[in-house]
Amino acid sequence: MPQTGRDRLGELLKRLDGRGYPAYRNLEGSYPFERWTLSIDRVQGDPFAAPSRLSARVTLDATGFPGDTFGGRSREIALRDLIARQFVDACRRIPKESRGSGNSGWIAIERPGQEILDTSAVVLTEGHLEARFTAGLPAYGRRIAGRAAEEMLCVEIPRIVEGSLFFSAYDRDRLHRHVLTCEDACAIRSQLPSLGLVAFVADGAILPRRSGVDDRPMERTRAVPFESPPSLRVRVNTPNSGEVTGMGIREGVTLIVGGGFHGKSTLLFGIERGVYDHVPGDGREFVIARGDAVRIRAEDGRRIEKNDVSPFLTNLPFMADTSEFSTDDVSGSTSQAANILEAMEVGTSLLLIDEDASATNFMIRDHRMQELLHKDLEPITPFIDRVRQIYAEHGVSTILVIGGSGDYFDVADTVVCMAEYRPVDVTGRARSIAEKYRSERRFEGTMAFGPVQQRAPLPGTFDPGRGRRPVKIAIRDRWTIAFGREAIDLSAISQLVHAAQTRAIGFAMLHAVRFMDGATPLRRVIDLMMGDLADKGLDALRPGRHGDLAAFRRQELAAAINRLRTLEVRNLNQRQ
Ligand code: ADP
Ligand code: MG
Repeated sequence: MPQTGRDRLGELLKRLDGRGYPAYRNLEGSYPFERWTLSIDRVQGDPFAAPSRLSARVTLDATGFPGDTFGGRSREIALRDLIARQFVDACRRIPKESRGSGNSGWIAIERPGQEILDTSAVVLTEGHLEARFTAGLPAYGRRIAGRAAEEMLCVEIPRIVEGSLFFSAYDRDRLHRHVLTCEDACAIRSQLPSLGLVAFVADGAILPRRSGVDDRPMERTRAVPFESPPSLRVRVNTPNSGEVTGMGIREGVTLIVGGGFHGKSTLLFGIERGVYDHVPGDGREFVIARGDAVRIRAEDGRRIEKNDVSPFLTNLPFMADTSEFSTDDVSGSTSQAANILEAMEVGTSLLLIDEDASATNFMIRDHRMQELLHKDLEPITPFIDRVRQIYAEHGVSTILVIGGSGDYFDVADTVVCMAEYRPVDVTGRARSIAEKYRSERRFEGTMAFGPVQQRAPLPGTFDPGRGRRPVKIAIRDRWTIAFGREAIDLSAISQLVHAAQTRAIGFAMLHAVRFMDGATPLRRVIDLMMGDLADKGLDALRPGRHGDLAAFRRQELAAAINRLRTLEVRNLNQRQ
């Protein structure tokens, strides 16, 4: 009888038992089990190091998943996401008592959050389903614990794999709901442009979260479900859930007003996350935004590199030219301007701005302040004087939370008032108030916003090396990439939703360097990078079956490049 992988592993581990930890390296290789194959891809150097990388591979036929659970891009991503979730649950059922030193006995897969992301944890390639996970190979001190390893590799991991990689292990209703909901959300997102909408918030949606650090929905007993005002209610069609109704936010300029604590920021946050699909039960399944929407905030202290901030900033003291503005420590208002221009540079159709995270002097300069300080003494052209031009000239809409300035009524197409978590359409009232009490503030902009900056990154300014290592890229947490010797601070990038995205962006920055030549605009570099990624998949970023990468948007990749403190660019602007 041919020897199975299980037998071979058992024999190997008997021999390795009690030997020094490095002898575990002999395990690297693949082991066919009855219905699937275990592969030990990379063994850790010692019990305290990052855990070993393993994968389990099954032919798609053997998994039994019916074609309608993975046919089409969004269903496939949703199925892979659900498998990762079930894998996480199966790991939890493994007893957690100590298996020895360091991370002995630990088994884990990258854990998804509330969003459904395309990740490298569970992949479907060449007719196979593959799960990539990590395990701490057991040791006592620095000696191999052979029996514990055998229990782990030959009993526990097979139990987890059997419980997550095969259709028979699934609740069919849950599985179908998962893939169909995700497909419906994608379908709504793809309809938005033809409906003239930038966002859609379904009736019945639960927007508030449990807390600032817990992204799960607020308990249904406390949360007020979303209900569109009748005048803004639209219907969208979905392939699986039929017609869905909700508030449609049209292109142009939309204000969200209302008293403090009435749910304005919560609504905007829901929309900001609406660039992603959410798991059933999240409450935001059908809260959908244009896929290229960018949340903008003030971010004083960041570095900017040859930014053309002249639409918002002119006549700076001691500085002639704001069309190539570099500084290592930018002010709040200028950072907000740079964030908008960088978002437009790489491409967006929707800006999301909350007064809570804005610089007041960037948002508005009222009549009295205009009287006190002549325009010549104020370098800033406030956003209120540019927001319509951004839409008219560049097709970029804005949704703005602003409870503090009625001057914005003059530039808004739609005004929604949040009152006790319920939206009310107050557009008509805001208009008549604007008629009755004319704002005395003067327009301070120029006639046109003008072209948006294009800058070409210089490839030599990306150095991923550190010490003797030519490439050292890692993440510290969801908001920090260690790129060579540099730490890139992404804490203001709130549409980064998973650390696996941050990690992928770190590697993508390096990958993108091949498309840079000092003349190719950043926007084009990112086009090429994202195209390459779409063709080759996340594995192109980091060969070797790493399960810890997640797909990201071009906007967040650009944000990371723009925050690399060593970045240098050539400004390609035609502006005089
Ligand atoms: P604002 O921006 O208008 O000041 P927030 O959006 O910050 O208000 O909301 C204030 C509080 O109300 C938050 O703690 C939030 O969780 C809660 N909240 C928001 N929307 C709802 C809702 N629909 N149901 C219940 N609580 C909500
Ligand atoms: Mg708020």
